Amino acid sequence: MPSRVAAVRQLRRPPTTHMPFTPADRLRHVKKSATRQLYDSAPAGSINLGLGEPDFQTPEPIRAEACRSIEQDQIGYTPNSGLPALRERIAAYHSEGLSTPYSASSVCITSGVAEALFDAMMAMANPGDEVLLPDPCYIAYPVLAEIAGARSVFYEMPAARRFGFDLASFERSLSDKTKVVFIASPSNPTGHVMSSDDLSDVAGLLAGSNVWIVTDEIYRELYYGERPHSISEYYPNTIVLSGLSKMMSMTGWRLGWAVGPEEVIRQITLMHQYVSTCASAVSQKAALAAFTSEGRGATTLMREELDRRRDVMVGAIERELGLPYVAGEGAFYVMLDISQFGPSDKVAWALLESKVITVPGGAFGSQGEGYLRLSFSIDGAQIEEGIRRIASGLKGYHTSIE
Ligand code: PLP
Repeated sequence: MPSRVAAVRQLRRPPTTHMPFTPADRLRHVKKSATRQLYDSAPAGSINLGLGEPDFQTPEPIRAEACRSIEQDQIGYTPNSGLPALRERIAAYHSEGLSTPYSASSVCITSGVAEALFDAMMAMANPGDEVLLPDPCYIAYPVLAEIAGARSVFYEMPAARRFGFDLASFERSLSDKTKVVFIASPSNPTGHVMSSDDLSDVAGLLAGSNVWIVTDEIYRELYYGERPHSISEYYPNTIVLSGLSKMMSMTGWRLGWAVGPEEVIRQITLMHQYVSTCASAVSQKAALAAFTSEGRGATTLMREELDRRRDVMVGAIERELGLPYVAGEGAFYVMLDISQFGPSDKVAWALLESKVITVPGGAFGSQGEGYLRLSFSIDGAQIEEGIRRIASGLKGYHTSIE
């Protein structure tokens, strides 16, 4: 007969399965992004026109500084808001064109713009506040608003106007509950760049109000005409978010920041302190090399190469597909009109069979529906092959829905 002790020990054995888990309510409506879902389901050998990152190697001076720092420095925490020397360079970079320059204490360095967006939303929006977002927009904005308990209100960047700014729609979306307005220029997913007239119209409408603007300028250095202006030149209640992911091809280094009036940056830094303590010390040290003439030169070369790839994509679309499209003046995206083939998510999923990954425009908002977002951040030969695969996929798709 087993002893009492053995019986008790038997009872204490840890259970092998866990109890059912109920996620927090704030994630109830949050799903894995369409880009990730498509990417995870793509067959081997697929061409990825869904990517939101450049394929260039990070510029050499940045990599060299990272290696030096790892070899020689004690890699500890940095101050929460980031290395003072880097904050100074970021402040100087964003002060170009401003009458009142930023100082280092107007900057909080974060783990990518993704974290800066989270920190800004949590620090600025209360439950019940209205947060104005462009439609279509980067998929994180409405999710973060939801997590903050705020209400997303969309102003249209109408597909019918080539995803351009529509002052009337913007004005209609404002109310006395509007707390924060998000602007993204150049835009993800459309690449649209807001003109200086559009920006000063927004500033004029909001003048004298206590509405704050958060402007996501992660694509500002990737443009194919005039360099985009920043709303910070026109409206003082502005927080600028930017980072090195796109302009220095440093997506994996996780380096971004928020810049603006110190009073707001202090609150964003408070949030950031409890979310991530500080951005990677190695990435911050390496980032100092981005704000040099060599760093800027590297961005110019990437921009020129992206401009060539944009021509390759547009040429291939016209030759192989003959479908309408919108190629923005910035970022690295083209919106392809596939409305004649049905809902964009069905088309994107069907195209996986032809081994090409695209992102359904509907994932970015109602104005994106009827389009696929195609990225030209991969090399020209792959872009051409990707468009050929879309052409053959759509041919089959057409017959299957007839
Ligand atoms: N904002 C926009 C508009 C983006 O497209 C992305 C990434 O694709 C981000 C923010 C996040 O960038 P980061 O790599 O700096 O977190």
